[in-house]
Amino acid sequence: MQVEKNKVVEIDYTLKDDNGQVLDSSEGKQPLSYIQGVGNLIPGVESALEGKSSGERVQITVPPETGYGVRDDSLVLSVERDKFSQFEDLQEGVRFRMETPDGPMIFTVVEIGDGEVLVDGNHPLAGMTLNFDITIQSVRDATSEELDHGHVHN
Ligand code: ZN
Repeated sequence: MQVEKNKVVEIDYTLKDDNGQVLDSSEGKQPLSYIQGVGNLIPGVESALEGKSSGERVQITVPPETGYGVRDDSLVLSVERDKFSQFEDLQEGVRFRMETPDGPMIFTVVEIGDGEVLVDGNHPLAGMTLNFDITIQSVRDATSEELDHGHVHN
């Protein structure tokens, strides 16, 4: 069976940056299951896997434009430290959800100053060229319930 829209695809993958450093991998974990064509994965990966079959290995380089996007400096914001009073242990690198005029977004704490906290709403992988080594483990039809929910059930 081939990878196409509304198929459930199970993949093993390793993701490296341009320096060869491993950023993420399914090695030692369960393979990743997703539904093709519904936006579960970044567009660059979905388009590379389209039409491929179980057992095939795909090595691709995904630019930011079809990955996690280019970095948007307007998403780096300075927030009054008082706004973080509910955080017991505020540290650089902590990720949290914040309401914005465009809806809730995930931000990362970049720097903690005396009165202000610098936060970044870019995805941690935004602006990066991503090198994927993917092996397709299985392909099956999604159930109607999975398509309804937009994610894979076990
Ligand atoms: Zn569900």
